[in-house]
Amino acid sequence: MTTDTSREELDAVVVGAGFAGMYMLYQLRDVLGLSARVFEAGDDVGGTWYWNRYPGARCDSESYLYCYSFDKDLAQEWTWSGKYPEQPEILRYLSHVADRFDLRRGIQFETRVTAAHFREDLNRWEIETDQGDRVLARYFITGVGCISAGQVPEIEGLENFEGEWHHTGAWPHEGVDFAGKRVGVIGTGSSGVQAIPVIARQADHLTVFQRTPQYTVPARHGTVTPEFLEEVKEQYDEIFEKTRFSAGGTPYGEPERSALDVDDEERRDIYEAAWEEGGFRFLLTTFSDIRIDRRANDTAAEFIRSKIRETIDDPETAEKLLPRDHPFGSKRTLIDTNYYETYNRDNVDLVDIRHAPIEEITANGLRTRDGEYDLDVIVFATGYDGMTGAFNKIDIRGRGGERLKEKWAEGPRAYLGLSPAGFPNMFMITGPGSPSVLSNMPPTIEQHVEYISDFVAYMREHDLETAEAEAGAEAEWVDHVNQTASETLYMLADSWYLGANIPGKPRVFMPYAGGLDVYREKCDEIAAAGYEGYVLRSRESVEA
Ligand code: NAP
Repeated sequence: MTTDTSREELDAVVVGAGFAGMYMLYQLRDVLGLSARVFEAGDDVGGTWYWNRYPGARCDSESYLYCYSFDKDLAQEWTWSGKYPEQPEILRYLSHVADRFDLRRGIQFETRVTAAHFREDLNRWEIETDQGDRVLARYFITGVGCISAGQVPEIEGLENFEGEWHHTGAWPHEGVDFAGKRVGVIGTGSSGVQAIPVIARQADHLTVFQRTPQYTVPARHGTVTPEFLEEVKEQYDEIFEKTRFSAGGTPYGEPERSALDVDDEERRDIYEAAWEEGGFRFLLTTFSDIRIDRRANDTAAEFIRSKIRETIDDPETAEKLLPRDHPFGSKRTLIDTNYYETYNRDNVDLVDIRHAPIEEITANGLRTRDGEYDLDVIVFATGYDGMTGAFNKIDIRGRGGERLKEKWAEGPRAYLGLSPAGFPNMFMITGPGSPSVLSNMPPTIEQHVEYISDFVAYMREHDLETAEAEAGAEAEWVDHVNQTASETLYMLADSWYLGANIPGKPRVFMPYAGGLDVYREKCDEIAAAGYEGYVLRSRESVEA
């Protein structure tokens, strides 16, 4: 970076125009009256929903909950068509929000932030983009998404493949024509289980390459009736209130009974009812101890395994699909439509690459230890460098030129998952160490955006120049995040929550597992105490 200071100066720069960046812009510009600019790599708003256009992409949160709550009129005027929102509909919703609040004029598209350095001489962030922009900003705020840095595994020979290949998170806007083609899908996480049934219906032949069988629960997707939507809209205030003060960002309520306190028949009936209802309710509303007690968890896991055996015609295929090496819910719970049924189709094969790994991608397909597969298209549903990957792509430096990437070499560290110590006036919306991906995303994003904008307003009122997390407060928070995770079953799976999917990444549980409700209370207390845990400096004190 150069040292020339004659450049445009803004109050705030925000990175990313997804749910987070859009609402942050609205708060900064329209509520607080600040000058703010969002830089966005895509050519329109949408974030994850802009990039993830793979077949079958939709959100696993119910439509009426996967939206902003900050504006009552917005909540009343938008109408969802399905129980779960499909990717094109979410994108239309976000486009509508952008129009409604005239957000696009504050967003610079097709521009990727490449560097953000805190200039101690100016108490400003100096931000550079791949389009040659250089701006100074008092606040540097990230809305880069938790699952946005796509991961294509390094498999020998990919460059020799003569067919086409795509990662689910960077899907061509014009779509992919699978008709008459032999397709291979690598990966059976959330993206894979959504894409596989749809691709199977379109392709001539589909081969699924599975490393770890996972638990997936039927979505029971369908349309929503006008009566249902009317009822929701009448009760929206109450629904949003419950959502805000819930652990997982839903209004479902927490079950109180233990899976071990009921007899086998009653337990099975409860699981059956939740299985029929579909979606996350199976995890969230059946029993209180599924996520913390291994014996309770085993009852849910065995129920799902019994469903897999019942659904799949070929016992050998069923056996390959049975998840056994991790507890249910310890990886992100998968929600599907006709996933297991897809393996009963004549044009679908399942290949176990745990025992016979992929050795090479060839000109005509791929070769595992046990066989060769001819393919025209390869779909990488292989996931993301979650939580930290998007930060590592930007050269972020704080006081003394400290690089965020180096600070996080042994795992991410930030007070409240929001503010890394040594990086003044930097805030991360749904950063590592916050509830983020363990909650329905819009409420957890709104909580962060509102916390940040209240904090910025407070700084203005008190004529403060910088706010910086104290190293001690950060250390205590990181310990608390680790301690909370250690009391759950999350630690028993090789999940992306733990960075286990990325070779060489430190094994640290990244999101905060204490719940959005507990987290919100903590943030509110900190704010009420004058932003305890932060060093706040006035202009005079930084100049002194
Ligand atoms: P993911 O959950 O990380 O799944 C990646 C899959 O690829 C896993 O089956 C993984 O196997 C496999 N894989 C990774 N590297 C591999 C390699 N080198 N060789 C063979 N297989 C490999 O990724 P995702 O499905 O894209 O989902 C990521 C997250 O995005 C989800 O957890 C969810 O939070 C979010 N998401 C949400 C939705 C939704 O709301 N419906 C949809 C898509 C994604 P292992 O299990 O063995 O690692």
